[in-house]
Amino acid sequence: MKIIDILNQDKVTLSFEVFPPKLTKNYDDVAFKAKEIAKLHPDFMSVTYGAGGGTSEYTLNIAKEIKEQENVEVMAHLTCVSSSKAHVHSMINRLKENHIENIMALRGDIPVGGSQFHDYQHASELISEIKASGDFCIGAACYPEGHPEASNKDMDIKNLKKKVDAGADFLTTQMFFDNNVFYNFLFRAREAGIDVPIVAGIMPITRGIQVKRARELSGCSMPQRFISMVDKFGDNDEAMKQAGIIYASEQIIDLIASGIQHIHVYSMNKPDVAKAIMENVSEIIK
Ligand code: FAD
Repeated sequence: MKIIDILNQDKVTLSFEVFPPKLTKNYDDVAFKAKEIAKLHPDFMSVTYGAGGGTSEYTLNIAKEIKEQENVEVMAHLTCVSSSKAHVHSMINRLKENHIENIMALRGDIPVGGSQFHDYQHASELISEIKASGDFCIGAACYPEGHPEASNKDMDIKNLKKKVDAGADFLTTQMFFDNNVFYNFLFRAREAGIDVPIVAGIMPITRGIQVKRARELSGCSMPQRFISMVDKFGDNDEAMKQAGIIYASEQIIDLIASGIQHIHVYSMNKPDVAKAIMENVSEIIK
């Protein structure tokens, strides 16, 4: 099933994300955890793509296992900036052969020192090519606080519109910890004529060390309430996990109470975290 058809059903959706292993020896463990998350019956799941494409087969295989063994719809991520056109097209064909209907089309981060490939500059080029390659539902990334490389937020929204014009069926946001940042972005995106569904990406922070990494990756701002939580509990693993799950659950509750219908949780291969969030909002998402 196409994810856009799930998003257009006029109901609240909750989806989870997992990432592939870097090493073959970890494959079974990651596949097991992904399927544990699938057993929670999310509306769909996504499987990220390792930068550079070296783990692309794991992305495909984990997506396949979730769909075929757990009967949960999946979206495979695909990045282009660190790949040749030939590799990207062979991945698109492999996804098609394996009946994966949904692709999150991304540029990917530019490696330090630049990419050795120059076939793609932006995700919009990949989106156009996927569109021309088959009957896929295409997702694309968006950044409520602006992409770190964008000169300003208006320019970033203009570039986002190019991805939608190229054929993105829906957008998923980068993580944010202040819902007002999301509401502001949503207003600006709609004002710019971006009318596809926008899925809110929520990252439960369950370890103090994750905060530094999250900030480096996304440049996202952190409200005082969030900083106080990490300052107080960051060194206590169990307390931080509990507080992080509650913080993410409260973000989700506020989003749904404000009329936002689609939530994607960056569950980071953690079935216990996914389960706790699912339980915290089980009646709310009905
Ligand atoms: P683009 O849309 O190409 O944007 C990159 C920059 O270029 C932005 O500053 C934008 O404003 C600008 N730009 C875009 N189009 C144009 C244009 N036509 N002309 C001029 N400027 C333009 N990374 C992974 O490696 N694997 C993953 O699986 C993965 N999944 C992700 C999922 C989500 C939901 C998000 C939010 C990010 C994900 N990322 C992933 C990270 C992502 O690859 C990086 O953020 C990357 O730096 C940008 O990718 P993009 O697809 O948004 O790029």
